[in-house]
Amino acid sequence: MGILVLCDTDGGAPRKSAYELLGKAKALGLGPVTALVLGSADVSSLGGYGADAVLHYDNAVLGTYSTGAVVKALANAIAATGAQYVLASANQVARDAFPRLSARIGAGYAVECTDLRSEGGKLVGRRPVYAGKALVDVATNSAVGLYSVRPNSFPIGASTGASAPVTVSDGGVSAADVDVKVVQTLAPEGKEVDLTEADRIVSGGRSLKSKEGFDSVVRPLAAAVHATPGASRAAVDAGYAHHGDQVGQTGKVVNPSLYIALGISGAIQHLAGMRTSRVIVAVNKDADAPIFQYATYGIVGDLFEYAPLLQKEFEKALS
Ligand SMILES: Cc1cc2nc3c(=O)[nH]c(=O)nc-3n(C[C@H](O)[C@H](O)[C@H](O)COP(=O)(O)OP(=O)(O)OC[C@H]3O[C@@H](n4cnc5c(N)ncnc54)[C@H](O)[C@@H]3O)c2cc1C
Repeated sequence: MGILVLCDTDGGAPRKSAYELLGKAKALGLGPVTALVLGSADVSSLGGYGADAVLHYDNAVLGTYSTGAVVKALANAIAATGAQYVLASANQVARDAFPRLSARIGAGYAVECTDLRSEGGKLVGRRPVYAGKALVDVATNSAVGLYSVRPNSFPIGASTGASAPVTVSDGGVSAADVDVKVVQTLAPEGKEVDLTEADRIVSGGRSLKSKEGFDSVVRPLAAAVHATPGASRAAVDAGYAHHGDQVGQTGKVVNPSLYIALGISGAIQHLAGMRTSRVIVAVNKDADAPIFQYATYGIVGDLFEYAPLLQKEFEKALS
């Protein structure tokens, strides 16, 4: 019974996506909400965001991701709580662990949902299909249902200040469960919020013409908007931005509240990664560019003229 929420942490603190999922899980009213935290972390804030209880597997083995150990920990947490549903942020952990967990315990898996609702006591997820061209509602038909949810799908309310009882254990996993060992983690160069969790994104395309063009137009506008810079594949292939900045089918799938596309045509593979953005602003000198079919606001014009104007206005408004 109830919902188990796998809470992501970063540097020992819960990530924004954990609070998002806990708040939504609580609002669904499908039974008690248990926050599951793997590895060392400060879990004291979770009760304020919707957790009725916290299961803290404070085990060094779980501090660094390993498929075997995390899948076993998740299976143990489901058995310990009797949870009917498990929610996780649609990130690399869910992408790797949930399919295996699904096979191991015979659980249905609703992938990359952007909305959740309860209907007749069941959890229903809404997810984009066909590169975002359509939305489908999915419900699991198994004793346990797994749902991964794109970050930024739900607002985060203020903490109620409530505290939740915490159960600490090693999660029943040991070093013997580590099947793949991470030997090195390379942090990205920038200090911006990761694209997949960013609430605002400013992306540039091939039309920036050079790395200097990208650095002098996209990055300053992104800084003014308090956004994370992103790029089309054409801009990445041309060396204007890093692969980690690529948005789209073969890059990152993003779900911000604001997506500004500078000189990006709106190819289907790019749209696949950003179409669910709440507000899309496109600047393109071609009035027939496909991106305008999806843009909330469009500026038909030269990005080298309009991006600095936008930058000035955002600096005034947000400084
Ligand atoms: C299997 C596969 C996977 C792919 N995966 C991805 C992916 O993950 N992400 C992705 O982005 N693409 C991906 N692509 C590539 C995709 O098909 C497009 O080629 C790419 O998105 C185009 O990038 P772009 O919009 O920057 O460039 P273009 O398509 O060349 O568009 C440039 C746009 O800029 C406009 N423009 C030019 N100059 C200016 C100016 N001065 N001011 C304003 N506007 C201007 C033009 O009118 C044009 O619309 C993939 C392709 C394949 C086949």
